[in-house]
Amino acid sequence: MADFSNYFLMKEEDVIEYAKLKVPQKNWDESTMTCKEIGDGNLNYVFKVQDAKGHSVIVKQAGVSLRISEDMHIDPDRNRVESEILILQGKLAPGYVPEIYCYDTVMSTCCMQDCSDHAIMRTAMLEHKTYPKFADQISTFMAQVLMGTTDAVMDHQEKKALQKSFINPQLCDITEALVYTEPYNDELGRNNVFAPNEEFVKKNLYENDPLKLEVAKLKMDFMTNAQSLIHGDLHTGSIFINEDTTMVFDPEFCFYGPMGYDIGNVIANIIFAWCNGDVTDDQAFCDWTESVIVDVVNMTMAKLGAYYDKHVTDTMCKTPGYKEYYLKSILADTSGVTGLELIRRTVGMANVKDLTTIADEKKRARAEQICITAAIDFIMNRADKKCGKCFLNTLKDAVKKVDAQE
Ligand code: ADP
Ligand code: MG
Repeated sequence: MADFSNYFLMKEEDVIEYAKLKVPQKNWDESTMTCKEIGDGNLNYVFKVQDAKGHSVIVKQAGVSLRISEDMHIDPDRNRVESEILILQGKLAPGYVPEIYCYDTVMSTCCMQDCSDHAIMRTAMLEHKTYPKFADQISTFMAQVLMGTTDAVMDHQEKKALQKSFINPQLCDITEALVYTEPYNDELGRNNVFAPNEEFVKKNLYENDPLKLEVAKLKMDFMTNAQSLIHGDLHTGSIFINEDTTMVFDPEFCFYGPMGYDIGNVIANIIFAWCNGDVTDDQAFCDWTESVIVDVVNMTMAKLGAYYDKHVTDTMCKTPGYKEYYLKSILADTSGVTGLELIRRTVGMANVKDLTTIADEKKRARAEQICITAAIDFIMNRADKKCGKCFLNTLKDAVKKVDAQE
């Protein structure tokens, strides 16, 4: 039997032994233990181990090559990064991330709380389910984790130690390529452009130099603005949700970057959900997504400000006017990233089901044009988006613009 002292890619039967050894506190009913690989992501192997007495654990192991492509290799150290950030996020925002029971840098594996009593938010929203507490909960999570890891609040040397520990160059490389580069030039031929929109994409993205100039600015900002310990991939597939709670998972893209990156990702992915509801004229669902767009922006900004007031330590950051300046730049980044995420998920390599499952070709083409049109405004006019309502208006204006062109 393996003693897990050398790395190997586990099979389901190995994971049962692993769980017995590493998570003994579950008091396993050993004879009824079962294990199933439930991973649906692109990068890792996720196993659920359970027994007949209701105990369960999730075991996530990083492979050496990616599930999506044998030729792409990423350091399995990403599993340590993911485990350590979940532990830290759990301290800053208790209850908002799965509990980590243990992690293991030899096997590149972590054992965590089973969140199966929640749905994956994207999947639930594809069924047009609504969650009235979501905006309040996600804004609390973001405000506490994002402001809680800034230089304004933290001891500067501790912050730099965290920055070093979460440097994450390989995962950042992926974001820099798939979010900040390829959607604007398809330089590696990996974009997935919906055929009826090929001309639209060429004209509005590939041949749009003023847009590329703004994206270049945002890209260099993403690479150099070590503002907060961000999740780095905070889309609705990285969120577990039910009536009562919201839990964020899969933070392996985390690093010290601009906090607007996370906030903008949440908003863009709610806009995709809106598009999906709009196609079937599901008014109640669209109304809810619209309120979420407005509330996530307003509540997150308000909570960031309140957290700042309460926890700011840097004396120069206490200078009257600095907080307002700081929050303004975060809101502009949020707008820019909302646009970037809308574009990259519409035309880039990794798409979203909210759009790709729209069966009617014309309706899908229209939805994608709305996303791209809104995105361009979010990026080009990012300094003008002053409140949640402005974000919603950008979406509504894009709808009008696309419909007027038909
Ligand atoms: P990847 O890094 O490969 O994207 P994820 O962390 O997103 O992996 O996990 C893939 C899937 O496994 C999730 O979409 C979810 O269905 C399931 N999963 C992951 N973590 C948990 C958890 N803590 N509880 C329940 N299911 C989980
Ligand atoms: Mg995932």
